[in-house]
Amino acid sequence: MKLMPVLFIGHGSPMNAIENNRFSAEWEKLGERISHPEAILSISAHWYTSGLRVCDDSDPKTVYDMYGFPDELYEVRYDAPGAPQFAGMTRELIGEGVRIDNSWGLDHGTWSVLCRIYPQADIPVFQLSIDNRATPREHYETGRKLRSLRDKGVLIFGSGNIVHNLGRVNWAMEEEGYPWALEFDNYIKENVLGGNHENVIDYHRAGDSAKIAFTYLDHFAPFLCALGATETDEKISVFNDSCALGSISMTGYLFG
Ligand code: ZN
Repeated sequence: MKLMPVLFIGHGSPMNAIENNRFSAEWEKLGERISHPEAILSISAHWYTSGLRVCDDSDPKTVYDMYGFPDELYEVRYDAPGAPQFAGMTRELIGEGVRIDNSWGLDHGTWSVLCRIYPQADIPVFQLSIDNRATPREHYETGRKLRSLRDKGVLIFGSGNIVHNLGRVNWAMEEEGYPWALEFDNYIKENVLGGNHENVIDYHRAGDSAKIAFTYLDHFAPFLCALGATETDEKISVFNDSCALGSISMTGYLFG
């Protein structure tokens, strides 16, 4: 079987699930660019737990973990089947420190994007959480352990944002980023394209921009985890390479 790529999406607003804009238009093209996966392992910023959890539900529910949006958004369903077998494999690959937890399902970090990439919801999807106690290096190492899933046809999909500072969101900057947001996003991009993963893990090397790019690791961690599952000599394609609302980066990556 061909090695599956690794995907990272800067998901931004949940409204991207139903709005036709330049970001969601790029997501729609990905379904054709990526060969049909056996399953999708989604690592979403929105399942932020104490310790690692994996969901092995054969019928995961759509979780509406966002507030104050139009009714239309709460009507989106993403009825993809789960992937218990691959969830079991994930648990074995990570080993100690991950447990099965079916209290969650597919949150908006997962469905708001997958409903654009794979609208038919016919590919099994399972989520792995983000451990809120882990260091950047530990997030990366978790991804490293998951690499062999790619040989088995699993698409490793991280969903977060490279820059994500909600306290600094500026609604007047619809499709723009603050200079520091662009600077941090570019720092990450240059190092990813250059294969310098250490500079990404130790992102503080970016300088002042790193101090305000985000407050918590929740949205950056899915990127570290996805990056950990890649090799430095793989083909990399960057898309939606820009910021929105001043302090959110929409940049996405397809590896392999
Ligand atoms: Zn989010």
